Amino acid sequence: MKTILITGAAGFLGSNLAKRLYKEGNKIICLDNFYTGNFDNLKELSNKPNFEFTEHDVINPYDFKVDEIYNLACPASPPHYQKDPIYTSKTSYFGILNALECAKKYNAKILQASTSEVYGDAKVHPQNEMYFGNVNPCGIRACYDEGKRAAEALMFDYNRMFRTKIKVVRIFNTYGKNMDINDGRVVSNFITQALQNKDITIYGKGEQTRSFCYVEDLINGIISAMNTDDDFTGPVNIGNPCEISILEFANLVIKLTNSKSKIIFQPLPSDDPIMRRPDISLAKEKLNYEPKINLEEGLKKTIKYFEEKLK
Ligand code: NAD
Ligand code: UDP
Repeated sequence: MKTILITGAAGFLGSNLAKRLYKEGNKIICLDNFYTGNFDNLKELSNKPNFEFTEHDVINPYDFKVDEIYNLACPASPPHYQKDPIYTSKTSYFGILNALECAKKYNAKILQASTSEVYGDAKVHPQNEMYFGNVNPCGIRACYDEGKRAAEALMFDYNRMFRTKIKVVRIFNTYGKNMDINDGRVVSNFITQALQNKDITIYGKGEQTRSFCYVEDLINGIISAMNTDDDFTGPVNIGNPCEISILEFANLVIKLTNSKSKIIFQPLPSDDPIMRRPDISLAKEKLNYEPKINLEEGLKKTIKYFEEKLK
C-alpha cells in the first residue's frame, strides 16, 4: 500500500483520481481549500479507513510523509482563474514549490498537473511536447498559463538540483463526472444550458477547436505517468486527439440532450486559443496510453451525471 497525497482533491479531476487510487488499495491524503472544489465530490470516501482530508491552502507549506504527490490544486476554468488572477499565480507557483519541498523531504515522487495552456495560442498543430508555445505573458490568461509554465520550470530545477523524482503531464480539455455545474468551462456550460433549454452561449463564431478527453482515460494516463521509471520526467501530453469545433460541439450536445436550446453568439475572450489538439505519440510510446472512450459515449455519461445534479 502506498501513501499518496492529492492536492486539489475536492475538484473535478482530483476527486476522480482519489477514488481510483483508493480503489487500487492505497492510503489517500487529500488537501483542498474549496476554492472551486466541493467536499460532496469526495463524500463516498469520507468514512473510509485510509482516507484523510485536510482543509489547507497550498500557498502555505505543509508536511506529509508520503510516497507520491499529485499536485492538482489550481482553479482550471477561465472565469475562475481570472476572478483573482494574482491568487491564481500564487496558487500555481507556491503550490508547486510547497509540494516539491515535501517531495524532497520524503524522497517522494511528484506529478504536476500541467496543461495544454503552456502552448498558448499554438502556432504548431497538433501540439507536441517539443513546442515551446505562444503565450501572451501580459494577457488575461497569463496568470494561469505562465503560472503553469513557471511551475514546470521549478519541477525541472528540483529534478536537476536535488534529483527529485518528477513527472510533468500536460492535460488537454477533460470532461466528465464531478464537473461543477457552475464551473464555467464549455462542457459544463453547454450541457447545463441544453438540459434547461436555455440559450447555448458560443464565444466568437465557434470556429475555434478543442479535443475533449473523457475523465477515465485521463486518469489512466496520469497514473501511468506516475508509475514510469524515475528517469522519465515528461513533459508528456495526455488527452484525446479527436478535434471538434465549438460550433459542432454545441450541435452535438443539443442532439444528445434532445434540447430545444438555440445557439447564441457572444464576444470571444482575448487570447482564446484558436486550435488545440494533442499529439499523444509520446504518451503512446512511454505510457502505452490510448484513450478508449469516444466523445459521444463520454458525453452521454456526462449528460446523465448533470441530469441527476440538476434534479
Ligand atoms: P477544479 O477547479 O475542479 O479543481 C481544482 C481544485 O483545486 C479545487 O478543488 C480547488 O478548490 C482546489 N484549489 C484551488 N486553489 C487552491 C489552493 N490555493 N489551495 C488548495 N486547493 C486549491 O479543476 P480541475 O479540472 O479538476 O483541474 C485540476 C488540475 O488539473 C488543475 O491544476 C488544472 O490546472 C489541471 N488541468 C485540468 C484540465 C481539465 O481539462 N480539467 C486541463 C488542464 C489542466
Ligand atoms: N466557450 C464557449 N462558450 C462557453 C464556454 C466556453 O464558446 O460557454 C469556448 C471558449 O471560448 C473556448 C472553448 O469554448 O474557445 C473552450 O473553453 P473552456 O473554458 O472550456 O476551456 P479552455 O480550453 O479555453 O481553457
